[in-house]
Amino acid sequence: MRWRLCTVAVVLVAFTALATAAGPEKRDGAWIDLFEQAALWNASVMYDSLTGTGHILRGSDLVRFKRNVPVFVLGTDRQLRATEIRDVSGILEISEATVASIASWFVERDTERASRFSIAAILIDPGHGGKDSGAIGEFGTAESRFRILEKDVVLSISTDVYERLRARWPDKRILITRTGDTYPSLEERVSLANDISLGINEAIIYVSVHANASFNKAASGFEVWYLDPEYRRTVVDSTKAEGVDEQVLPILNAMLEEEYTTESVFLAKSILEGFRKSVGDVSVDRGIREEEWFVVRNARMPSVLVEVGFVTNEAEARLLASEDHLRKLGDGLYNGIVDFVDYFEHRKGESAP
Ligand SMILES: [Zn+2]
Repeated sequence: MRWRLCTVAVVLVAFTALATAAGPEKRDGAWIDLFEQAALWNASVMYDSLTGTGHILRGSDLVRFKRNVPVFVLGTDRQLRATEIRDVSGILEISEATVASIASWFVERDTERASRFSIAAILIDPGHGGKDSGAIGEFGTAESRFRILEKDVVLSISTDVYERLRARWPDKRILITRTGDTYPSLEERVSLANDISLGINEAIIYVSVHANASFNKAASGFEVWYLDPEYRRTVVDSTKAEGVDEQVLPILNAMLEEEYTTESVFLAKSILEGFRKSVGDVSVDRGIREEEWFVVRNARMPSVLVEVGFVTNEAEARLLASEDHLRKLGDGLYNGIVDFVDYFEHRKGESAP
């Protein structure tokens, strides 16, 4: 898996102006079928024969070109002067020299990604609170009543994880959306996440903590949700992208979406693994799920929603009321987050296992 997170600075690219400034030129040298070359790069090519414009997309690295124009745009803002791509009876050809130049930019991009990545902030979001109890479990008789509220369970686990993350990483911004029995709105929780200012090489992860409920009293276990990859968020702010080629914006958004989804899945796996190790067989492992949760959908960063167990299952509800089990869930969540962060900060851009 390729890791990429950066602020997207989009620059208006006027191919027509470039075309006038530097007319097509012909040079000798070997020519290669562009599609064959792209396959070697594991990249895709899009080309509109009518306008002569196209792009090569490798992971999140975008190379834009126009037929017969010896200028390429690398990423959002960099120009490469190189022998043009030509269209020979419907077959797109690229020169060997241009292939070499683009390849070296790809290497440069990989190196950059590897060296600059860090998770600067972690936002823990205990669900519900205050007037909103979340799921409620009630058991027993009038004489011996047992009642448990989701808002209390998730605050306990979240506070534990929050404090341990702060102790582990004093240099990172570790944040929590509530520290007591209060109710920040969903919008406030998300804007807290989105308002954190990050350097270009920094990322934030968002972990929303909940407990489950079901009409089926037998349902039990923990699970982790991430965003449905079919859902396309508009992650590039269109107000900041004024004047941009309208074809570019959806491409950039699709790329970022893909990146966040991949990372969210890996974060989800890491947390599940943490629970498996800490909770063991005491609770059922319900696996990874995908959904369009509001909090997850609107957080512009790798984000997951954790369900620690069912308050509607009596056995599990009693577990969720025990200090010991809450600590184990805290261990699992903490270790899952730590593993995710360590992996990405230390193995730097390599493929995930
Ligand atoms: Zn909830």
